[in-house]
Formats: sequence, C-alpha cells, structure tokens
Amino acid sequence: MDFNDTAEEAAFRAEAKAWLQANAPKLNLSGLPEKEVLKHAKAWQAKKAEARYACITWPEKLGGRGGTPIQQVIFGQEEAKVGAPRGFFDIGLGMCIPTVMAFANDETKGRFVGPAVRGDEIWCQLFSEPSAGSDVAGLRTKAVRDGDDWVINGQKVWTSGAHYCDFGIVLVRTDPDVPKHKGLTMFWIDMKDPGVTVKPIHQMSGGSNFNEVYFENVRVKDSQRLGPVGDGWKVALVTLMNERLAVGGATGPNYPELLSLARSTPSGDGSALEDQAFREKLADWYVQAEGLKLTRFRSITALSRGQTPGPEASIGKIVSANQLQAMSSEAMEVLDQYGILSDPDLAPLEAGFQQSVMWSAGLRIAGGTDEILKNIIAERVLGLPGEIRVDKDVAFKDMPTGL
Ligand SMILES: Cc1cc2nc3c(=O)[nH]c(=O)nc-3n(C[C@H](O)[C@H](O)[C@H](O)COP(=O)(O)OP(=O)(O)OC[C@H]3O[C@@H](n4cnc5c(N)ncnc54)[C@H](O)[C@@H]3O)c2cc1C
Repeated sequence: MDFNDTAEEAAFRAEAKAWLQANAPKLNLSGLPEKEVLKHAKAWQAKKAEARYACITWPEKLGGRGGTPIQQVIFGQEEAKVGAPRGFFDIGLGMCIPTVMAFANDETKGRFVGPAVRGDEIWCQLFSEPSAGSDVAGLRTKAVRDGDDWVINGQKVWTSGAHYCDFGIVLVRTDPDVPKHKGLTMFWIDMKDPGVTVKPIHQMSGGSNFNEVYFENVRVKDSQRLGPVGDGWKVALVTLMNERLAVGGATGPNYPELLSLARSTPSGDGSALEDQAFREKLADWYVQAEGLKLTRFRSITALSRGQTPGPEASIGKIVSANQLQAMSSEAMEVLDQYGILSDPDLAPLEAGFQQSVMWSAGLRIAGGTDEILKNIIAERVLGLPGEIRVDKDVAFKDMPTGL
C-alpha cells in the first residue's frame, strides 16, 4: 500500500487544486429548493466539462480527458473539499451513459454522450419494481413488439432523480416463456414520452429524491434497444458493475465530526465525551474508520498501479453505511432534545447528523442491500457455496407468484 502521491499524481493534484480554487462556485446551498441547487449543479458541470474535468477517464473525443482512474479519484477528493454541488449526474454518467456507450450505435452515442457530460441532459436508471429489487431479474414491466416499435406497460419504483431526468435506461421483460434472466431486454427512453408518468415519493427528510414511474402503452423504436433482444440481463450487469464502483462508500458526517460534537456538547459536569459507555462506542468506530480509510487506500493504490480494485468497494459500502447509521443515531442521543432540530441554521454541522439519520438507512439498501453484498463477498471472494436458486430453469410465466 502506498500513502503518497507519485510525482505525476502530485502534479495533477496541484493542477486540479489550482483550477478548483479559481473556478469552483462559492455557494451556500443548504436550505435551497432542489430546482435552485440543480441550476447551480448544471452550471458547475458545464464548467468542468469545458475544462475536461467532468469525465476524466473518458476519451477526449467523448468529452473526457483521456486520463487515469487515479486522476479521477484525486480530482474527486479535491472537489469534495470545495463544496461544489454534486450528485445529480452520478447515475447518468456513472451507470447509464457507460451502458449506452457499450451497447448503442454510433449515431445514438453521438447524440447523447456530449449533452450528458456537459450536464445539459440527465439520465436515470429504471430497474427496480415493487416486486423486483434485489431480485431485479424477476421484474414484470413488459415490452411487446409492434412493427418497428415496442410497447411498454408496467411500473418501476425508487427511480432516483426521475422527476428531473430527461432520459433513462429501462429493463423490461420481452419473453415470459423462458427463465427469468433470459427474457429481458434493455431500451433507452425519453422521460417526456406520452404514457410515462413520474410520481415523486415523499421521504421523512421532507425531500423527494426518488419516484414511482408508470408506463402506459409507451412506444419506443426498436432502434432504442441496447443490446440484443433477450440479452438485457448481460446489459444490466454492465450497469450494475458500474453502480458498485460508483456507490463505493457512504458520505455524511464522519468519526472526527462525532468526536468534536461530543466534545462541545455539555453533559453532567463536563462534556458528552466523558461518558464511559459513549467512549467505548467511539473506540469501536475509530477502529472501523481507520479500517475503512486503509481499505480505501488499498483501492486507490490498485488504481494508481493501473489495476482494478477488488471486492473492497462492497466491503467499504457495508461498513460505512452501517457506521454512518449507528453514529448518526448516537449523535441524536448526544444532542438529547436538540436532536430534533433539523434546521441547518440552528443545528450543529448544518444538521448533517439529523439528515444522515433519515438518509443512512437508504444507503444500506441502495446499490445492493447489506445481505446481498454479504452474499457476493461470501460467494465470489470467500468461495463459499452459492445460494440455492430454485427458479433458475423455470419459465418466468410458470414461476409461482402467490397471486
Ligand atoms: C436511496 C435509494 C436509491 C435508489 N435508486 C434506484 C434507482 O435509481 N433505480 C432503481 O432501479 N432502483 C433504485 N433503488 C432501488 C434499490 O435498487 C432496491 O431498493 C434494492 O435493490 C433492494 O430491493 P427492494 O427494495 O425490492 O428490497 P428486497 O429485494 O425486497 O429486499 C428486502 C429484504 O430482503 C433481503 N433479501 C432479499 N434477497 C435476499 C437474499 N437472496 N438473501 C438474503 N437476503 C435477501 C434484503 O437484503 C432486504 O433486507 C434505490 C433504492 C434506494 C434505497
């Protein structure tokens, strides 16, 4: 493991830092409505694209810089420090567009890649359904061929960002007569097409980050198909592999912030930090936080050497999402009755811990639940026996539904 930048990495970091200092917007976005934040985020994305910092590892002809994954990590680390608006483009640029680049024809790529890199158009991922999440291959939204078109009917759920997205990739069932993984096909769709209805889901945080999306006789051209008919599962795996890389670790208040919160919160005659039971938990989180940091360094070292990181991303996600949830709940205890203050102007850290209490449970589900990631680690890393899959050879239409 190597903790230091190489000479080239240090030079790139200095260049990125200088550019960020000169160009990053100095904004306080807390409390602003999502529409306003999105406007700032689009402007920032366009600026990054112009300077070739938007998609560093992509080829220059696709709007990237032809850079290395380690340069992408370095830029991300420095960008996080300046507090510029992020997040709106991660699913599109991290998962959907790479899928489009892998499976669409040149005309489609030429039409969509540039506007996505510049942030002019945003993409969403329409996979999960009410009865198909971890087992996404069990989905029921169907597409039926009609001449040169396909007609889509069904429902998706938990679609992040669908309410502000322009396009999406949608996985549908095109053949119910074969086993579930074999009858799927992927299409790109225009979210403004007739028959597409987006209904935001209201969350306890007050926000609506994700949505239900309904399809009623939505017509798509066969030319919108990504990959062969019936090969949608293979196409989806490309998206999902990119998702695991993108989700990586939880972001939110961290161990040092909890420590400083406890130090500054009065309790009894001293501060909350003097509580023995609390100190014991802190010690555990310290060990976890150091383990996470070193695991991340291991991934970064692999990238720096031009290798592909191993299963660390799954381990990092399980540990960091659980830790964030546990630390945020503990912060509420430390703050006692002030824990219910979620106004960013009144609560410490602009209510970062209050936000994470409401958000961290979702992180343990998004991009693979704890149990699914543990299964992956057990089967693919530790080589333990695979889960028994009773429906592997059963035609989808013959699978028992309980209805
Ligand atoms: C914040 C957030 C954003 C999301 N954004 C998107 C998006 O943009 N697009 C999209 O398509 N989806 C999105 N999702 C949906 C997400 O992919 C699913 O929620 C996730 O895959 C889990 O599926 P599920 O909710 O149907 O739960 P289920 O799969 O029904 O799981 C329920 C419980 O059973 C457990 N379980 C299931 N199968 C097994 C098994 N084989 N072994 C052991 N335990 C098991 C799970 O771990 C979980 O505890 C998002 C979810 C969240 C929380």
